[in-house]
Amino acid sequence: MAQVFTYEFNTPVYKGKTSFNTGLYINGKFVEGSNKTTIDVINPANGKLITQIAEATPKDVDIAVDAAHKAFETTWGLNVGGAERSRLLTKLALLMEEHQKELAAIEALDNGKTFNWAMDLDTTFAIDTIRYYAGWADKIHGQVQETDEKKLSYTRHEPIGVVGQIIPWNFPLLMMSWKIGPALATGNCIVMKPSEFTPLSAIRMCELIDRAGFPPGTVNLVTGYGNTVGSAISSHMKIDKVAFTGSTLVGRKIMEAAAKSNLKDITLELGGKSPNIIYNDADLDQAVEWAAHGIYWNHGQACSAGSRIFVQSGIYDQFLEKFTEKSRSLKVGDPFDVDSYQGPQVSKNQYDRIMDYIQSGKDEGATVHLGGDRNGTEGYYINPTIFTNTTPDMKIVQEEIFGPVGVVIKFEDEDDVIRQANDTVFGLAAAVFSQNITRALNTAHRLKAGTAWVNCVNQLHANVPFGGFKQSGIGRELGEYALHNYTAVKSVQVNLGHIM
Ligand code: NAD
Repeated sequence: MAQVFTYEFNTPVYKGKTSFNTGLYINGKFVEGSNKTTIDVINPANGKLITQIAEATPKDVDIAVDAAHKAFETTWGLNVGGAERSRLLTKLALLMEEHQKELAAIEALDNGKTFNWAMDLDTTFAIDTIRYYAGWADKIHGQVQETDEKKLSYTRHEPIGVVGQIIPWNFPLLMMSWKIGPALATGNCIVMKPSEFTPLSAIRMCELIDRAGFPPGTVNLVTGYGNTVGSAISSHMKIDKVAFTGSTLVGRKIMEAAAKSNLKDITLELGGKSPNIIYNDADLDQAVEWAAHGIYWNHGQACSAGSRIFVQSGIYDQFLEKFTEKSRSLKVGDPFDVDSYQGPQVSKNQYDRIMDYIQSGKDEGATVHLGGDRNGTEGYYINPTIFTNTTPDMKIVQEEIFGPVGVVIKFEDEDDVIRQANDTVFGLAAAVFSQNITRALNTAHRLKAGTAWVNCVNQLHANVPFGGFKQSGIGRELGEYALHNYTAVKSVQVNLGHIM
């Protein structure tokens, strides 16, 4: 029996207690890993141990896959109608709502994001997503195809089967919801692996999934490391599909493993280096506010972070002055402090990685216009950082930093900025600011990105698809589009009297 984690939150923004089992969730039960080893979960605000959770092994993945197959064949999959799947997802959304503050507090503790953001965005959006897919569960249908009068031909959108889902640490609960919502609505069974850095909200969610009444084996959680449990999932011969959100580097490995094993179906939601283009005719004050949100939201740990800020020469100096002022005003501090805008980066690894990028920017000759340094003496806090005087080939311009580090680049005209904006291997998102709708839309259409925001940044909704062009991914999450990731189309042809 795995151990129970109990934690008392006594903070200015939330007072309450959480208590849950820290085991793997397999076949409707919390169990220890087969090796009985554990993973340390660290508080990024102070670097101290929060708790230990069970570490899964490839053998546990096998056990979870078998449980998922059994559920798919007997109690889920084609055995349950859409109305029942909808009822269970709705119940889950209600339970999440009941525990919203607790889930937000777990997220702030484990990830370092501020409690306020975890309330307003992560948990709210996660609940919306589950509710949205509850609405779809009884509306999954195929089509009737006209062939000839002696035949009836139709399609069925059947669940794929057992799907592996591997998620990152930047929006742990939200990424889990984006994955399980459409997969469950369409009748699939799940073997889920959260990030080893932020497993707590996923474990707590499994208790809510259990309480909602999903049959044992429908959702299984294997907490473990990427190179053991993650790769066991992506190369598993009995997993029919893998849905992955994470870095482009690991996405490539997932695709390779899928190709080398059973040629399983994949969806990949990967990294980005999103351009944020601000024309001379933009509403300057609004552009400054959105640009700050674009790069500093979630401490820059957003795949869609507007990390390359292109500003037209006519307003460049004014923008930089106001943007610097805004960046300086953002309070970096304890995630549970009501005034904090930015908490710590998620881990020592990420802290070091970001500081290495900052150093590389300096070494390659860019100017640190603001920040570039640690905030405080404990935990993994980094001050909002702005680089100027960059060149297109610098690492800080080309690579995903995943921290509160933006580059501000001057441009002259539309063709110039579109060429620069499209000049990375990524194509996840982009933003454009202009009060001239023709210019704004022309630019939005010419950018190679899965999402283009006009006069806003980082806007996401459960019913609007999200995903990447180029090396930012394959497939779309959210909206009706995500349902296609989890259904296989079967054509049925019926003879109504055609004689051979
Ligand atoms: P990561 O790629 O390091 O890890 C993601 C997940 O993959 C984790 O659960 C990890 O344990 C697992 N993993 C690691 N190695 C593996 C392997 N060899 N086989 C299988 N699984 C493995 O990413 P991260 O650092 O957790 O998250 C940050 C990245 O996620 C960023 O690049 C970001 O852009 C991306 N992201 C993308 C989206 C999107 O929607 N496009 C959303 C959020 C995050």
